[in-house]
Amino acid sequence: MTRASGAASRVGGDVASRGQGMSAGGGGRSGDLHVPHYIGGTWQRSAAAELVDVINPATGELLARTPLASADEVDAAVHAAVSAFPAWRRTPPGERIQYLFRLRGLLEEHLDELARVITLENGKTLAEARAELRRGIENVEVACGIPMLMQGYNLEDVTPGVDETLIRQPLGVVAAITPFNFPAMIPFWFLPYAVACGNTLVLKPSERVPLTMRLAMELIERTGIPAGVINVVNGGRTAVEALCDHPMVRAVSFVGSTPVAKAVYTRAAASGKRMQCQGGAKNFVIVLPDADMQLATQIIADSAFGCAGQRCLAVSVAVTVGDAQRTFGDAIAAAAASLRVGDGLDSSVQMGPVIGVESQRRIETLIDQGARDGARVRVDGRGARIAGRERGSFVKPTILDGLPPTSTLAETEVFGPVLSLVHADSVDQALELLARSPYGNQASLFTTSGAAARRFRYEAPAGNIGINIGVAAPMAYFPFSGWKESFFGILHGQGRDAVEFYTESKVVIERWSRQETRKF
Ligand code: NAD
Repeated sequence: MTRASGAASRVGGDVASRGQGMSAGGGGRSGDLHVPHYIGGTWQRSAAAELVDVINPATGELLARTPLASADEVDAAVHAAVSAFPAWRRTPPGERIQYLFRLRGLLEEHLDELARVITLENGKTLAEARAELRRGIENVEVACGIPMLMQGYNLEDVTPGVDETLIRQPLGVVAAITPFNFPAMIPFWFLPYAVACGNTLVLKPSERVPLTMRLAMELIERTGIPAGVINVVNGGRTAVEALCDHPMVRAVSFVGSTPVAKAVYTRAAASGKRMQCQGGAKNFVIVLPDADMQLATQIIADSAFGCAGQRCLAVSVAVTVGDAQRTFGDAIAAAAASLRVGDGLDSSVQMGPVIGVESQRRIETLIDQGARDGARVRVDGRGARIAGRERGSFVKPTILDGLPPTSTLAETEVFGPVLSLVHADSVDQALELLARSPYGNQASLFTTSGAAARRFRYEAPAGNIGINIGVAAPMAYFPFSGWKESFFGILHGQGRDAVEFYTESKVVIERWSRQETRKF
């Protein structure tokens, strides 16, 4: 297959039409379920023998098969990126961003098509898929500011007649490895900044949701960006390890679970790479008795159960202080029980399935464990059956009331629609519970007290803080922070951190003799 402009709508149509009765074209092209790589400007069929089924989690329908790339296929993608780098690096930043402006337009134009593919392969509702795409597009927009963002700084006469300048230069080939829960947004946390800064990229999307970036890559191809600047390799652990070990890859951005984030961080650092690895989470929210309970309930329900709880910023433990135990407990249980669960393509549905049968079983086992640990299963989402979607992987919203704060579950990432309620007698005690958590992705507080809010902002040990906010997802012009076991590295994704991560600073100190000027 060669570069094929105009293919996007065809591919989008093929994949997006599934779930409406059409049976062909899962991998992106009619009759072929095999998801191709995109290397050096061409679509390539992988020779991999091992394939992972891509399943629509709402219906159990097979959508496509992801090949698990070998180290040789990764090497081919890296070499394509190496070849493209010298010319791309010399392309002026103002020209580089023209491709991103075009991409922004194409993403807007194909937003509904992309959203449909996200819903089909990930399960989230169409509204959630559209919202995710908006966040992705926002990153493309911010990266269009690279001609200013990438500027260095200088100072004349650091000593008489000597000037010093800092310039930023691209690293070379960089890699991004992304998880299943945001098939579009997370690749776009990295892709636009990496290439706007003058690097060339190898992206490895999650093998469970390869179709979104398959379609997005067709749109990227239509921008006319030179071959080899952006490459997509499909695969799993072998591909990730090959990227970590490859001597020509200068930096790796990773998002996924904590054990893998740690392993990738260690492995890539061993070969001298620059790393940013975002890991898992267990997010706490503290609800004070003076909070606006109606607002808190609505926002916390959306955080805990939106995207079926499969957001790294989903609230997982609600710590109620004082009277909030009763008022919030009753309200959140009612909200959880009333959510309409089903196929995300149905516009009346408020929560879709979890990513697959294995996840469904794992989440149900964790609910069992919470009950064994002493929590009351106040709203029970186990054994969910959705009429007409009997082969889907559904867990309904679940509330575990009175989870002992020292139980294993209080420190275990569930990554599903399960909210545990824990009670604390005071703000001090609530903050202590937060401090115990091994994770530090997000912490939120609901209150109407400015003093309580300031104390929380000051003391809460997490990278993303929400005050009366349930999903404290930083806008693209701020870094997506994360502390403790939720992040390994120094510079985060998005914003100015991304520009620093994807560039090397070079300091130039210059002295020119005054005698020289007399020649002219
Ligand atoms: P995952 O760790 O299973 O997979 C992430 C990526 O790593 C995928 O591309 C996968 O192919 C690869 N991978 C999987 N196992 C590997 C191994 N053993 N060695 C090397 N590579 C491997 O994560 P997931 O299930 O796709 O995503 C969910 C997780 O991601 C959750 O823990 C969630 O909290 C986390 N997450 C974190 C953030 C954040 O910003 N901190 C954002 C989104 C998701």
